Amino acid sequence: MRLARFDGGRVGVVTGEDIVDVTTVVVGHLRSDGAAAGLIHELIGSGVVLGELLAEESLAELPTRPLADVALDAPLPQPSKIVGAPVNYRSHIAEMALDTTIADWGMFLKAPSSVIGPGEDVCLPYLDQRTDHEAELGVVIGSRARRVRPEEAMAHVYGYTCCLDITVRGREDRSTRKSFDTFTPLGPWIVTADEVPDPHDLDLRLWVNDDLRQRSNTSLLIFDVAWLVAYTSSVMTLEPGDVIATGTPAGVGPLVDGDRIALEIGGIGRLEVGVTARGAVAYDDRPLPPGVTAKASG
Ligand code: MN
Repeated sequence: MRLARFDGGRVGVVTGEDIVDVTTVVVGHLRSDGAAAGLIHELIGSGVVLGELLAEESLAELPTRPLADVALDAPLPQPSKIVGAPVNYRSHIAEMALDTTIADWGMFLKAPSSVIGPGEDVCLPYLDQRTDHEAELGVVIGSRARRVRPEEAMAHVYGYTCCLDITVRGREDRSTRKSFDTFTPLGPWIVTADEVPDPHDLDLRLWVNDDLRQRSNTSLLIFDVAWLVAYTSSVMTLEPGDVIATGTPAGVGPLVDGDRIALEIGGIGRLEVGVTARGAVAYDDRPLPPGVTAKASG
């Protein structure tokens, strides 16, 4: 099932070129308007299986619209946390001149407030500091996971989405460089795990404008989805609706004002966002106390 949020928070099931509006069905069973973190987040947290609800309804009797006529929103506008995997493809390790993995670095957190949805703009924070795209498979957690073994881990996965881990290059902690508002585009929808027979054989491609910048396959992940869930849940309890950004392959590169980014993951979907320098400031104009400067910048 392809679950999308659209038109300001409605929830729909994408069927080919159409979207079936299932908002009333979901709201009826959740007794909630999904105002806080969105109806999909609440649906996942409730443990209610949408497929079973819909089996009791007639999809044909629910309002259906052409997908092209609706505005898609981020499927999870405010995950309780976004956990990122540093250097998790062999090719990206070589590119960054590193020989280390998650075994050395651990995972990092991105601010939930960094999420945007399809069609929105990534806002470059600095006029004079490089900001890169990172194309990643996003894993959506479906049930609480604490210290799970890798062989148990996949049962905690609700589904998958496209995820961009936008990153300022430099020396600050990853959580700072990757947490600017707009730095985690998610979407265009969540594909539930039952419709992804092998999450470790998905083609992943990223274009900036017409330039194919990243091309890989999730078979090349070093920590695969099961190991990422196992490792991360050994540190922090994963909650329903949490997102794991699984890491990026080679080909990361700088973004400039006016760019269009498209991330396509086979069997998942295509996420498109813009890039703007509107509101960007000089790196030296960050709020720093008088007399304090960075020792170096990357
Ligand atoms: Mn990343």
